[in-house]
Amino acid sequence: MSGLSTEWAASTPVTTAPFPRHLVSADRLTRAHVETLFEQAEALRHAPRAETAQRWRGAVMGSLFYEPSTRTRMSFEAAALRLGLHVVGAENAREHSSAKKGERLSDTLRVVSSYVDLLVVRHHEDDALEAAAACSRVPVVSAGTGSGEHPTQALLDVYTLQREFGHVDGLRVSLFGDLRYGRTVHSLVRLLTKFRGVEVCMLAPAGLELPETLVREVRAAGITLWAADSLTEALADADVVYQTRVQAERLPADQRPTAGPVRIGPAELAQLPAHARILHPLPRVDELDPAIDTDPRAAYFRQVENGLFLRMAVLDRMLTETFGEGGMV
Ligand code: ASP
Repeated sequence: MSGLSTEWAASTPVTTAPFPRHLVSADRLTRAHVETLFEQAEALRHAPRAETAQRWRGAVMGSLFYEPSTRTRMSFEAAALRLGLHVVGAENAREHSSAKKGERLSDTLRVVSSYVDLLVVRHHEDDALEAAAACSRVPVVSAGTGSGEHPTQALLDVYTLQREFGHVDGLRVSLFGDLRYGRTVHSLVRLLTKFRGVEVCMLAPAGLELPETLVREVRAAGITLWAADSLTEALADADVVYQTRVQAERLPADQRPTAGPVRIGPAELAQLPAHARILHPLPRVDELDPAIDTDPRAAYFRQVENGLFLRMAVLDRMLTETFGEGGMV
């Protein structure tokens, strides 16, 4: 696995646009923000643990999850602890917070933001978080919103591409699976518009194609994007296969696709170039055969590990925006 190339690190531009106050959409980030986060993730990965554990000692992260989560919640919480923060929150906020009593999200964020220095929130509605974040006294980081967006997943996906290939510009990415309800691909295509010459090929079951408004949006932002005619086309020229599961919990029973996503196993792998990589935001269901896990092109568990450092970098950036480079005083 390659690290950041010296050439890439040396050409990292200085961030000029301010970092967004709240991180709720991948679209708000500039390329310079993204590259600064990657650089910091790399630095935090290699920094002595005892040093990073002092970095934000005494700060508090609030964590509110209104939907189930394994990786996102635990990696955010682990990232916080590794940076010296304390964590408070609810891992099942729909049941174990005042949402159960009918409290609106904006009120909960207003209240909880009086106790903490930043908030990580996952919510089941596509659009509720953006408006509610305006009521928060501290920065809010989205940990995924309905079938809307999942910006830190996209950041860790692209960070993985940067580490695996040494660059993101010019990559050809084939998106597989549920592109309609899968929020990670929505943030991913938005984030890929920040890079040059990226091409996106799509292979989705009927009814689960990328929403037309998003297709228009990312094309207008400069991405070449098309629907593949065949599995062979989607595999043969791909640098990256980004596989996703069907978001069964979001689909009304009568809208279940008759055909599931293509399952990637040894036969599909045989059609994939030797230099290509397979990513998946996980959890997988049936769409990735565990038999391919040991192939060096299977990057999804490295992707998970990258998520920890990328999320450390996000928390570090947001806290630096609040307290300054000197840390907490
Ligand atoms: N873990 C990702 C998400 O929360 C992907 C998925 O659930 O399919 O969106």
